[in-house]
Order: sequence, then C-alpha cells, then structure tokens
Amino acid sequence: MRRPHRAPPPGGHYSVVGIGAGPANLSVAALLYEDGGLPNLFVDRKERFSWHDDQLISGATLQVSVFKDLVSMTDPTSPFSFTAYLNQQGRMYHFLNAQFAAVPRGEFRNYLSWAAETNENVVFGEGVREVDFDGVFRIRTDAREVTADNIVIGVGTLPWLPDFVAPHLGADHFHVSRHLRHAAGLAGKTVAVVGGGQSGAEAFLDLVSRPAVERPSSVIWIAKRRNFFPIDDSAFTNDLFMPEYSDYFHRLPRDIRSEIIASHILTSDGISEDTLRSIYQQLYHLRFIDDGDHPFGLYPNRTVEDLQRLPSGRWELVVSHNDEADSQSMVVDAAVWATGFRPAPKDFLEPLLPRMQSEGGELKVDDDFAAVWDGPADRRIFLQNAARAQRGLPDVNLSLNAWRAQRIVNRLRGDCGRSPLPSFIQWSAKTESEAPWNG
Ligand SMILES: Cc1cc2nc3c(=O)[nH]c(=O)nc-3n(C[C@H](O)[C@H](O)[C@H](O)COP(=O)(O)OP(=O)(O)OC[C@H]3O[C@@H](n4cnc5c(N)ncnc54)[C@H](O)[C@@H]3O)c2cc1C
Repeated sequence: MRRPHRAPPPGGHYSVVGIGAGPANLSVAALLYEDGGLPNLFVDRKERFSWHDDQLISGATLQVSVFKDLVSMTDPTSPFSFTAYLNQQGRMYHFLNAQFAAVPRGEFRNYLSWAAETNENVVFGEGVREVDFDGVFRIRTDAREVTADNIVIGVGTLPWLPDFVAPHLGADHFHVSRHLRHAAGLAGKTVAVVGGGQSGAEAFLDLVSRPAVERPSSVIWIAKRRNFFPIDDSAFTNDLFMPEYSDYFHRLPRDIRSEIIASHILTSDGISEDTLRSIYQQLYHLRFIDDGDHPFGLYPNRTVEDLQRLPSGRWELVVSHNDEADSQSMVVDAAVWATGFRPAPKDFLEPLLPRMQSEGGELKVDDDFAAVWDGPADRRIFLQNAARAQRGLPDVNLSLNAWRAQRIVNRLRGDCGRSPLPSFIQWSAKTESEAPWNG
C-alpha cells in the first residue's frame, strides 16, 4: 500500500479531526489517506476496533452488497476496498469459490478492522470529551488537546431500551447488542425475544437453533409489526438508496420526509428473507422432525408495555395486542431486548450547540452533511449517521456510506466531484429537457 503524508502536523494541528472510527468515519479516513494536503486524525474511544461483535451470530450476513464497502462506490482504486483486503490477505480465489449469496458479517467486520489497523491516522483508546472553537476547533480527548480546521463527527448509535427495562439490565434482561456474551446462560429457561427487526430475528434464530443442551426450554418472539416482514431489497427499491434520491429527499418539506420514512421503513428495517426462511425451516424441524418437545411462540402485532418481577424470581411481561383490547401476561425467565438503536449523544459538542441550528431534534445539515452554524464558512462540523430525518433511511446504514464520505472530502477539497448517472426513475416533477414526453 502507498504511504500517506506522515509528517506530524506542527503543534498537533490537523486539517481534519474525526470523532469516532466506525464505518462512517473510517470511510472518510480511507478517502483522505493519501491526501498529503489534508493532514487528518481519527480518534475512537474503544480500546480496539469492533463492529457489533456481540451480534456476530453464526450465519449472520451483510444486508447490502459488498461493493458498499468503505470506498468502492466512489473510489474503486482505493487501497481500502474490500477487494484490496481480499487481495492483501491472499484469499481472492477462496472468496470467489465460496460463492456467498451474501457476505458473512464476520468477514466484513474483519475487513473493517483491517482498514482501521492499516490506516495510521486512526487511533483507538482515545475518547473525545469536549470540542470548542476559537478560530480553530479545540478537541480535548482523554489523552491530549489537538486542534483542527474541520471536524467530522461519526459517533454512530447506542442501544435503546424501553424505560421499564433499564433498571433490570443484567443476565436476565439484556439488549441484543450483548447477545453473544449472555446467550449461553439462557439454556433451559423460558426466554422472550422482543423486537421484530433483523437483530431480533437473528437472536430468535440463534436461540432456537442451539444444540438441545444449550437451548432455552422455550423461546417466544414478540414484535410490534403485524407480521415478521422481510426487508424490501428489490431493484427499484434499491434506487431509493442512490445519491440522487438522497438529495431529492433532502429538498422535500419536513412533514413529507417523515411520511416517507414511515412508509419506506421496510426498505431498511425489515428482516432478510434468508433469515426468515431459516427460522421457518428450523421451527418445522423442531415441531415435526426432531424428537422431543421444543416449544416456541410467535407473537407479532403486540407491544410489551411493562415488566414486573414476580415473587418466584421470574418475570411477567405485560403485552398489549395492537388490534384487540385484551392484553396478555407472559411469564418468562429472561428476555433479549432487540428494541433498536438511537443516535449516540454528542455531549462533547455542548460548547458549540448554541451556535448550531437544529431541526426536529437533529442538528441541521446542509447538502454536504456540514452542520449549519454561525462559524466561518471554511470551518466545518460534518455530521455522519445523525440526520435520518433530513437525509432519509440510508443515513443510518452502509448504503451511501462511501458516497457521503466522498461528499465531505470533496467539500474539504473545494472540489465538486463526479456524480453517478441518474436513476432510471424520475423522482422530481421538475421537467428535464430530454424527457420522452417533452415534445
Ligand atoms: C448488528 C448490526 C448489523 C448491521 N448490519 C448492517 C448491514 O448489513 N448493512 C447496513 O447497511 N447497515 C448495517 N447496520 C447499520 C450500520 O451500518 C451500522 O450500525 C454502522 O456501524 C454505523 O456506522 P457508524 O460509523 O455511523 O457508527 P458506529 O459503528 O456506531 O461507530 C461509531 C464509533 O464512534 C465511537 N465514539 C462514540 N462516541 C465517541 C467519542 N465521544 N469519542 C470518540 N469516539 C466515540 C464509538 O466507539 C464507535 O466506534 C448494522 C447495525 C447493526 C447493529
């Protein structure tokens, strides 16, 4: 791999400092790697790179094409592409011959980890505590203070739980983001999995597929949606995850944007068809083929309203039905809460918040994901994975990760970049001159 410009910037001053080193900021770091003109540093508070490691359940796969790695959609010749990783590891032929229908999530995690380790501008074990501004950004980390002309915030999301669960967290109640470290302790118990997205589906599949001695005695799966619905991964739906649609969406009025997010939710938050099929087939085995009694229960269209500890030490889930007035009481020994993730708090921005505009609970961003603030035009605060209501569902996943990073890098370079060809679909009513009906 070609080496970047490595001269340490005098006085710890950088053109760009990135806060967080998950896939979003690793993409910006990768695109800046060989740019001697923009010295950069990316810090992450984790001791080492990880990517949802406690959810790396056997068989879990990536929900997007592997071309949607850190760079390929915008710079396929980058030394940080997934192909470059395979080549560097000497496993190009093996990868092709394995004929994965979808890339194992563990392999994508290893790729991301390789990209983080290979890039010397990425540092772990250093959390950002505060950012202030006095002509340059002053970034105070656990270890030092550095300054920067621009910052890129990519702190991702944190697990979310209903309020009534939080006081009981531990071995009996845990968020799915800690599944692998607690699942072994569920053998022989009655367990609820709460949440009908991909994470809930994977946790349920894992629990009902364990060998008999490791398996819970029964597993129930509770979900809000009316059924266990698949992700829509079809051709035209994927055009919603193209740069052009992201820009179109950004220009729409706020109420229409929220309506679109609600109606398109299954294009992003549904369950992979493979996972659904595997679950169905495993339930068929348990009920009709395997010896023994392996009870399970499927309860979509329900909401868990409360959780009570019983004198027996077991737990009562109070579950309402979304169409009927009756509620149900379900007694379990433990529950896996697959109740989603929310944007991570950005307390370190406190000193700057009065200078930044917000919209509907989010910090407002412009076309290039730069926060709208009253600072100088050449001092920017970029925000990644923090503007779902403004940029749509792709903002929180990997689909437009490389494109968004490239937009940020282009803005830093003062370069308008190249856009991919437009979608086959005409999203906007604004008439284009070559439209077939425009005689
Ligand atoms: C199990 C799982 C599987 C997923 N699979 C897919 C998929 O297949 N396809 C897809 O498109 N999307 C997927 N997603 C969604 C999304 O792609 C990921 O959540 C992705 O990790 C988001 O990247 P990020 O960089 O924005 O955030 P994160 O990965 O959360 O990274 C943020 C980083 O910021 C660091 N940080 C936070 N605060 C500070 C601070 N103050 N100072 C320094 N560092 C800080 C954190 O330690 C963390 O490393 C998945 C999500 C989950 C939970």
